[in-house]
Amino acid sequence: MKYFDLPKWTREASLWAEEYFSKLSEQPVRSQVKPGDIAALLPTNPPEKPEDMEDIFRDFKEIIPKGMTHWQHPRFFAYFVSNASPASILAEQLATYMASNCMLWQTSPAATELEERMIMWLGQALGLPSKYSGLIQDTASSATLTAVLTMREKALDWEGLDKGLKHSPTLRIYASSENHSSIEKAVKLSGIGYQNLRFPRTLPNRSIDAFNLREMILEDLDQGFKPAGLVLCVGGTATGAIDELIEPLQIAKEFNLYTHVDAAWAGSAMVCPEYRYLWKGVEGADSIVVNPHKWLGMQLECSIQFLAEPLLQSKTVGLRPDYLRTKGEDQISNLSEMAITLGRRFRALKVWFTIRAYGLSGLRELIRNHVKWCNELEKKFCLDPEFEISFSSPLALFGFRFTPEGFNSEEMTIRLFEKINDDGRIYLTQTKIDGKSTIRFTCGTYITTREDVLIAYDVIAELGKQIKNET
Ligand SMILES: *Cc1c(COP(=O)(O)O)cnc(C)c1O
Repeated sequence: MKYFDLPKWTREASLWAEEYFSKLSEQPVRSQVKPGDIAALLPTNPPEKPEDMEDIFRDFKEIIPKGMTHWQHPRFFAYFVSNASPASILAEQLATYMASNCMLWQTSPAATELEERMIMWLGQALGLPSKYSGLIQDTASSATLTAVLTMREKALDWEGLDKGLKHSPTLRIYASSENHSSIEKAVKLSGIGYQNLRFPRTLPNRSIDAFNLREMILEDLDQGFKPAGLVLCVGGTATGAIDELIEPLQIAKEFNLYTHVDAAWAGSAMVCPEYRYLWKGVEGADSIVVNPHKWLGMQLECSIQFLAEPLLQSKTVGLRPDYLRTKGEDQISNLSEMAITLGRRFRALKVWFTIRAYGLSGLRELIRNHVKWCNELEKKFCLDPEFEISFSSPLALFGFRFTPEGFNSEEMTIRLFEKINDDGRIYLTQTKIDGKSTIRFTCGTYITTREDVLIAYDVIAELGKQIKNET
């Protein structure tokens, strides 16, 4: 295929997209294929000769969409959404045409300067103080790993990078037990070791207990460990748990720990001033991660890492120790100096397009609607005696169990969950709370309407009745 064929095929792709979106709502949300179904349709050997794009495109249409779970479906209520605004999709398309590697200022001046400006815009949009700069990472997992590596090196005065960890003191990281598994992974990969990740008690409101955090730090110091960092969460993945930030961050400061706040999901909601109380004190954190690819419609990969002192991170993961690591005499930034990967996509374009196309007011309305509709739905379950709300969150997330009288509610909840996802009209995920299965509901895609959200109750109640009749 030649470059001059590209417009023809991108037009084909646009026509396909138009049809895809127009029929999306009729498709089952979760792909209904079985393991191996798609692989069976793919040749085992690569073609020796070039194939026509006609054929490739036809196979795409026939094989791929049916094997996809539709994350932009208006009734995708599973995990956390991975949202794509139309403006973001368009920007991604443009970035894809140029296919630049935005590793250094000179390899992409516009991408670098736009990225810095977008970090500034998003900081303002979320109500963060202007001291934060940062970068767009691919995912929160990368941001968290980078932050944990910075915890390690700051504690070792950047000697671990050269000497390794063998003769260094044993470091300790503290984290809320409600944190995402990416924290555990980061601590393992950083060489600090999982047994040195400590979880202070949580309070009844599921926030980390600051008193116990201090006790643990003192105990560790007493035993010759070196406390290095603290990871707090605003919107834990399972149940949306929220750490109170002010006191733990003060304690961290007192003991010179590097701090990271994981607000991957809930951070997007901070475009609305009325939710900012949920991360009160966040300005005390050294590093903060927010994923606009979850709830603001700036599609994967778009994870913003805000940094109070970017130099500490570039000292840790930057390639050139003697080089000016942040904006220096030459007034340029090489953003890959703050990231683990060298190559970087042009991620800032979709941020620019999305913020401009919807305005902050549009983004606020999006979030407010999702929260409002989710609350309405939660109320319906609350009023139905066959269901029990197992957890609530101030944002668009809650959990419920199926508890009809005279039945085993654990068994009924699991069966209902399976039935919902086999049915296909809606898609949810489950979690466990205190050993009990719980069905999670969250919403947040661009094309979701109030009706889409409320219909979830009708579908679930209908399937619940069927299960009771079958039992
Ligand atoms: C989704 C999520 C993550 C992981 O995000 P990725 O960008 O997929 O790495 C981490 N923490 C929280 C709180 C999340 O909700």
